[in-house]
Amino acid sequence: MHLKQLELEIVAGDANLMVKYKIEVDLKTCVSTGACFASDRLHFQSGKNQQSNVIGGQTDESKTSNVFDDNQIVDAQAAAKNCPVSAITVTPNNPKLHKKIV
Ligand code: SF4
Repeated sequence: MHLKQLELEIVAGDANLMVKYKIEVDLKTCVSTGACFASDRLHFQSGKNQQSNVIGGQTDESKTSNVFDDNQIVDAQAAAKNCPVSAITVTPNNPKLHKKIV
C-alpha cells in the first residue's frame, strides 16, 4: 500500500485516530502559572517550583518532554496556546497528516 493511499484512508476514517506527538516545555521560560496542568491533567502535572512537568517524560534543568500516542493532542495544543509565555511546544510526528485529520 502506498503512503498516499494510506493517508487517504486515514483521513476518510476514524476521527479519533491516535496521532504520535511530542510535548516539550521550556523550563527556562515557564513562569509557574499552573495553567497547563490545571486544564490538561493527562499530559501535565506540577513539578519542581510549581513549574510544568510533562507526565511520564524526561526532565532536566532546561526542559521537560515526552512523546504520546493518545487521541488527546487537541488538549495539549490548547494548553500550549493558553500558556502566557509560549513555553509549550506540541509537535505531531507527521504534521502534514495531522493537519489533514483535524
Ligand atoms: S501554562 Fe506555561 S507558564 Fe504556566 S505552568 Fe504551564 S508551561 Fe509554565
